[in-house]
Amino acid sequence: DHELVRSVDLIREVPDFPEPGVLFRDIGPMLSDPAALRAITAALGRGLEFDVVAGVEARGFLLGAAVANQFGTGVIGLRKPGKLPVVADSISYELEYGRASLELPADTLRSGQRVLVVDDVLATGGTLDAACKLIAQAGAEVTAAAVVMELTALEGRSKVADTEIRALLKV
Ligand code: 5GP
Repeated sequence: DHELVRSVDLIREVPDFPEPGVLFRDIGPMLSDPAALRAITAALGRGLEFDVVAGVEARGFLLGAAVANQFGTGVIGLRKPGKLPVVADSISYELEYGRASLELPADTLRSGQRVLVVDDVLATGGTLDAACKLIAQAGAEVTAAAVVMELTALEGRSKVADTEIRALLKV
């Protein structure tokens, strides 16, 4: 798909962010392009069956809301700690250095719903794995996890083993 190829070309590589030695993929220029946003969101959700989208803070919020809007579902934001007024459940997970948590907002996800998890980048897989577990703990079902970019060398896919992962671009 020509538009999809042009869209992923808009992703910018930023060396040494957020720390020295890391090559950060910045999707900002892609999101701000109207045709690219449309092509990317269509590709993330196409052909999948889901009742609601769960976006992972923070870039997953932008992508997830766009996917939800295009496919006619609602969206849930999985948040970092301390942001939500009422928390339904939370999960803590390992990062390369230290730990992180994600929280599910109360009165959003219903048991039995089919959920499409959306984020921008799959790196080590810790974040997506935690997101999928949080949704499963709520009695809902993850249809798939969809990301714009997968950093294959980090083998994050193996950490999210029981989940279909859709990556639009693998690097
Ligand atoms: P993981 O848990 O898979 O190691 O890291 C994934 C999380 O870190 C995602 O929420 C993603 O937004 C962020 N992340 C890691 N590396 C990058 C990167 O190069 N670019 C962007 N945009 N996000 C990244």
